[in-house]
Amino acid sequence: MIKRINHIAIVVEDLDSALAFWRDAMGLPVAKTEENPGENVDIAFLPVGESEIELLKPTDTESGIGKYLAKKGQGMHHMCIEVEDIDATMQRLAAHGVQMINDVPRVREEGTRYAFVHPKSAGGVLVELYELPK
Ligand code: ZN
Repeated sequence: MIKRINHIAIVVEDLDSALAFWRDAMGLPVAKTEENPGENVDIAFLPVGESEIELLKPTDTESGIGKYLAKKGQGMHHMCIEVEDIDATMQRLAAHGVQMINDVPRVREEGTRYAFVHPKSAGGVLVELYELPK
């Protein structure tokens, strides 16, 4: 079962200029900012209703997000769909011939399980699946 759009991730060159639009002009609150040295990215979380916008600013050029910014420039990076059961969702996608980037869900520190669908199978959109810890 699909629960909601958990977040939309946007790659930015600079958090302050991105916040000048999303926070100052649009008026969205910033719930928190976080340095994620593991993934070489600084993140600002801006809640929008039941969902969040995540602004991702790479802190180096060699990480996945850093390379993405160098190659494609700023813009929307991925959309994250939160599901009740990521295993069941991935089985369903496999039955529909959908190609995944992660064939097995990965696990974040706080227990969130996630996997990315290949954009080839999703009309050019990088889709992340999330199953939050129970
Ligand atoms: Zn994400």
